[in-house]
Amino acid sequence: MSPTSYDDWRSGFRWRIPERYNIAVDVCDRWAAADPERPAILDVAPDGRIETWSFASLREASNRFANALRAHGIQAGDRVAVLLPQSPAVVVAHLAIYKLGAVALPLAVVFGPEGLLHRLGNAGARAVVTHAGGVAKLGPLRDALPDLALVVSTDGAADGAVGYADLLAAGSPDLVPVETFADDPALMIYTSGTTGPPKGALHGHRVLLGHLPGFAMMHDFMPKAGDRMWTPADWAWAGGLLNALLPSLHHGVAVVARKAEKFEPEEAFRLMADLSVANAFVPPTALRMLRTVADPRGRFDLRRLRTLASAGEMLGPETFHWAGDALGLTINEAYGQTECNLVLASCAALGVARAGSTGRPVPGHRVAVIRPDGSPAAIDETGQIAVARPDPVMFLRYWNDPEATERKFLGDWMTTGDQGRTDADGYVHFVGRDDDVITSSGYRIGPGEIEDCLLGHPAVALAAAIGKPDPVRTEIVKAFVVLRPGHRPSEALAAEIQAFVRTRLSAHEYPREIAFRHSLPLTTTGKIIRRVLRDEA
Ligand code: ATP
Ligand code: MG
Repeated sequence: MSPTSYDDWRSGFRWRIPERYNIAVDVCDRWAAADPERPAILDVAPDGRIETWSFASLREASNRFANALRAHGIQAGDRVAVLLPQSPAVVVAHLAIYKLGAVALPLAVVFGPEGLLHRLGNAGARAVVTHAGGVAKLGPLRDALPDLALVVSTDGAADGAVGYADLLAAGSPDLVPVETFADDPALMIYTSGTTGPPKGALHGHRVLLGHLPGFAMMHDFMPKAGDRMWTPADWAWAGGLLNALLPSLHHGVAVVARKAEKFEPEEAFRLMADLSVANAFVPPTALRMLRTVADPRGRFDLRRLRTLASAGEMLGPETFHWAGDALGLTINEAYGQTECNLVLASCAALGVARAGSTGRPVPGHRVAVIRPDGSPAAIDETGQIAVARPDPVMFLRYWNDPEATERKFLGDWMTTGDQGRTDADGYVHFVGRDDDVITSSGYRIGPGEIEDCLLGHPAVALAAAIGKPDPVRTEIVKAFVVLRPGHRPSEALAAEIQAFVRTRLSAHEYPREIAFRHSLPLTTTGKIIRRVLRDEA
């Protein structure tokens, strides 16, 4: 049952975290027992054919795979990497790892050799489940990865890898999952590496339970009849895995799996129409690309699309209003980080959704904007967004880095490294990451506000704002702009865009410099890496 009022829900909220809890038993075996043929994964092939995986088939495959991994020496606590695009094998691998009490290490297929070496080496991974592309990347790295004992390939045995299908065939379908405690490590996710080298955030099984209230807000209380989830976000990222895949399965909602090299907005709309997607989680950069498609409702049948959620970067009023006009939907924005995800959210169903605000604290989490001494900031005073411990969604620790874990906390506040402010109605407004906040003529300016304003100009497809050092003003605002198709860079257009921002924002916020780019530096999770632009500026 869904609550009727945000305030009542929040004030009456109590966590119910059992002492023993295993993600795989919760998201798979429970459904396989109650409703075995229920669809869990809809695997879309490049030619459009759909293969449906039921919860029962996921249980059997994951039991087989867990037994096979165990036969190859994988034990509780071992880190097992999953380096595969969206596909049923990703789910089978995660479930098997959880059932063994081992630790899943999701890795994005777009990582190059350096990215893989850093993460696999740092994590001391014992095994990698991947495909032929991953096997080829790992080949030259294996000598530098002494802990890596087993490579499994979904494309069959070759080049030192054992075949995934062979393992499934050899493993027994009977397994008693390890009875993990809710606090036992289940998952290690590296942060996006936006501000520096990625850090491994270790999470307990309970992290999934910690996501559920925020997930409920993002999707206006899933499940409802006909719900079906899709996200273009890689399931290797906290967003794809914990904001979409695992909580949907927890609710018995089928998830669409599609391998895509890159995000194509027209294809995304077509997929949502053809698969009758009801719930989508689409991060801001992808939403901004969807926004360049004219008349989506006229061209694609999107009547089944019920909820549209966003997280990972600031959404901003432009994109929020676009969804209302073009899709007839309110985007439910959420906020969190790999270390502590989904702690602020909007929820249209509860009337908690406002253009320009991330939303309100998700029931169950104590979130505040604080001053450097840990005291609460006043209304509308900018400070650090912080989350109080203990919190079931909070990471256990950074991997092998007690000092970094220690630095993350100020007393019982986990600091986020993000600046925000709370308004008089309790809505939190994201200002910017600590490093991205621009100081100009004595003002502190969040880049998001400027970027959002730039997006309002009809020629602008994507924008990033940074502070460029300036002897007089400390910093000036410099904007990097990607134009929409049909527009060409010119000094006249730069001046026009500057004037456009100047009339809408305060004079100190307008970009004194504009640079046109074909693309912006993005993390593999689609976030703008402003530090790269700062180094260039
Ligand atoms: P790293 O910590 O390695 O620099 P990262 O912080 O980008 O990388 P993630 O944990 O994937 O890695 O991202 C979390 C961050 O993303 C948050 O701390 C915040 O800066 C940003 N973020 C997430 N959701 C939102 C949102 N709704 N609005 C604005 N920013 C957001
Ligand atoms: Mg971070």
